[in-house]
Amino acid sequence: MKIALLSRNSRLYSTRRLKEAAEERGHEIKVIDVLRAYMNIASHNPTIHYKGEILEGFDAVIPRIGASVTFYGSSVLRQFEMMGVYPLNESVAITRSRDKLRSLQLLSRKGIGLPITGFANKPDDIKDMIKMVGGAPLVVKLLEGTQGIGVVLAETQKAAESVIEGFMGVKANILVQEYIKEAKGADIRCLVIGGKVVAAMKRQAVAGEFRSNLHRGGSATLIRITPEERSTAVRAARIMGLNVAGVDLLRSNHGPVVMEVNSSPGLEGIENATGKDIAGMIIEYIEKNGKPGNTKTKGQG
Ligand code: ADP
Repeated sequence: MKIALLSRNSRLYSTRRLKEAAEERGHEIKVIDVLRAYMNIASHNPTIHYKGEILEGFDAVIPRIGASVTFYGSSVLRQFEMMGVYPLNESVAITRSRDKLRSLQLLSRKGIGLPITGFANKPDDIKDMIKMVGGAPLVVKLLEGTQGIGVVLAETQKAAESVIEGFMGVKANILVQEYIKEAKGADIRCLVIGGKVVAAMKRQAVAGEFRSNLHRGGSATLIRITPEERSTAVRAARIMGLNVAGVDLLRSNHGPVVMEVNSSPGLEGIENATGKDIAGMIIEYIEKNGKPGNTKTKGQG
């Protein structure tokens, strides 16, 4: 097959592994920096140009679109879809999962367990909003944050009020969430491919920290997940419309709760923690499913 890999940097671990895995299986794979692609949408025959050439003859496209380039990246992906190229994850599913509030609304509508979460723009009554999510301790999150930055644990009512006021003062979009204390600084990343959890790892925060992000010094280990956790992860990926997803869960007193569904899950942490060839599994999935035009929206989303 001829595969396009949308990635800004060919030296990144996940990009390198996917390239290796595709080549090992005899495929041709080209890394494309989405920001450098330019498109002709005005003709009957949609095209993508890259470094002076027309991109043609691709069977499948693997989007690895960073959060900061979601807008332009997903339009390049949509252009591939309009040309009938099979996307590993569809552009509509990616933009859906990047909108945290929309994702939580979609998941809650389908009965997926979530931490009690409130969001607001300019609440006049911060005390009432805190009461609404069950009071302190609670977690306040910046909507635009990644890698645990902008995720604050407010242990008391007073701390919660001042953190919320502070974020609002700088006009940041936030959500306020029940603190899942019983998770004890750990979360579970489930890697879903084609409706199956193919690998799972537990990330544990360092002592004195509640955020388990590997970027915050957390450590990853292999974990056995329960059938309920497995089905929650699979359903969450399906609801978002993602063929490949990293679903982050917390173990709460009221069962598994989903924190986030990631459309471009990193491969380094999970391959190292589990010893599994996830990149190979992704390429295999494309071999089985990568038929021209095999998308739900055909680029119309
Ligand atoms: P980011 O997307 O920036 O990584 P997350 O929402 O995933 O932010 O939060 C970072 C980490 O903080 C999580 O991996 C988890 O360990 C911890 N965490 C986040 N929300 C909660 C919560 N409601 N209760 C307990 N721990 C939480």
